[in-house]
Amino acid sequence: MENQVLIFGHKNPDTDTICSSLVKEILDKKMGYENRKAVRLGNVNKETQYILNYLGIEAQDLIEKVEEGQEVILVDHNEFGQSVEGIEKAKILSVTDHHRIANFETAEPLYYNAKPYGCTSTILFEEFKQNGLKIDKKEAILMASAIISDTLLLKSPTTTDHDKKALEELAKIAEIDVNEYGLEMLKAGTDLDDFTGEQLVNLDAKSLEKNGVKFVIAQVNTVSIPDLLKRQEELESAIHNEIAKKGLDFLVFAITDILNSNSEILVLRK
Ligand code: MN
Ligand code: MN
Repeated sequence: MENQVLIFGHKNPDTDTICSSLVKEILDKKMGYENRKAVRLGNVNKETQYILNYLGIEAQDLIEKVEEGQEVILVDHNEFGQSVEGIEKAKILSVTDHHRIANFETAEPLYYNAKPYGCTSTILFEEFKQNGLKIDKKEAILMASAIISDTLLLKSPTTTDHDKKALEELAKIAEIDVNEYGLEMLKAGTDLDDFTGEQLVNLDAKSLEKNGVKFVIAQVNTVSIPDLLKRQEELESAIHNEIAKKGLDFLVFAITDILNSNSEILVLRK
């Protein structure tokens, strides 16, 4: 991809990563940078697919690695461990992110826009405003969807007033009822029927180690905890397999009801 600047979010892309990279490409082009190209580092999840279908657009191209010297722009992440293969030797032009900064180093100066907001798209929304750029309907839907996803309809504890204000304004431009559209979108992402127990345990799993104790915290979102608990036996055997396979001391599996902000937690130990 000669002369193209690649824009991407993290591996295991979520809605913010996919939507924010698409929006960043549009924003940069509106600023006069023509050679921008949003790409992705993994498969699109069901929630994000709902948004792409709603807009009638295809996901951006998938890439697996970048060559030495490739110019790149990061959104929704900064840690190299969550980024593309080859990132250490790429040239990072800018980062727009709402996560902690860790394991991040560049050889050259760069633009770095970090805000402790609930979503990367909220930062991009403010960049549109700061630069006096108009937001059209498609861009508004992409950004509103990312905010709805990252803040679980403004209910997650990471939500800030900036996210609330952005979503309110974007919903008007997008001509969507936030609650109605948001619930449909979140529900589309919680269709867990096709996943095996092993896949469910690995959908969103973080490996951690403290004082020599190795454990994993995993989570899935659903609209019905009892529905998923019908598969409790299968889940427990998958959890036991993970514990054995990864040599864990224990595994925490949280099943979160996104409608009621309620969780049921399975904890199994070796
Ligand atoms: Mn993300
Ligand atoms: Mn995010």
